[in-house]
Amino acid sequence: MKYALLALLIIIILLGVFTCPPKSTIAADVYDVVRVVDGDTFIARIDAQNVRVRLIGVDTPESVHPNKAVEHFALEASAFLKGLLEGEQVYFIYDQNNAATNHKDRYDRMLAYAYRASDSLFINAEIIRQGYGHAYSKYPFTLMEDFIKYERNARHQNLGLWAETEDYPAVSDSLVWFNAGSNKYHREICRYTTDKSLSMSKTEAIAKDFEPCKVCKP
Ligand SMILES: [Zn+2]
Repeated sequence: MKYALLALLIIIILLGVFTCPPKSTIAADVYDVVRVVDGDTFIARIDAQNVRVRLIGVDTPESVHPNKAVEHFALEASAFLKGLLEGEQVYFIYDQNNAATNHKDRYDRMLAYAYRASDSLFINAEIIRQGYGHAYSKYPFTLMEDFIKYERNARHQNLGLWAETEDYPAVSDSLVWFNAGSNKYHREICRYTTDKSLSMSKTEAIAKDFEPCKVCKP
């Protein structure tokens, strides 16, 4: 009887140990950064392969965009990410929203949250906090609310691409998005902005008597 009780106790303890994984002892694998591609993409060495990593939830200006201000900030954003990652190691966390595509985007890039190994700096968030990218709300991700808040703070502080200079007016002021059959214009991160939305300059939108969206307040 005594042994049966003891055995039962041991079984209960073992069940507890094996069904509750310890949260504080996750040892993430660390990878070398090979090079930075642009403001939101870099190459990491994973299992002896160069893997292109697209940072989740952040979008930086494309250098190919035919707009001088955007081009300027594309270089700045790229330089900013180089400053954060060159010669560093990183570890990754994935978002369940991308599980269905095996954490890949349509360009076969790995979708991840990246952390700098030396100090656990959260790279995706840091880009937005310092004003070198937008919160990218076109695709769902767990930290969207936080990232939108970081962007708002960066804009209020005129950081990075939100800083207005004479040579390069802020990107936020130069481009807005609109949808066919509507006279409302939106910011890129607005929930009404989709892959089908078209862009024009804010000046043009105002000249055409378009109205600013009440949700994204462009
Ligand atoms: Zn809007």
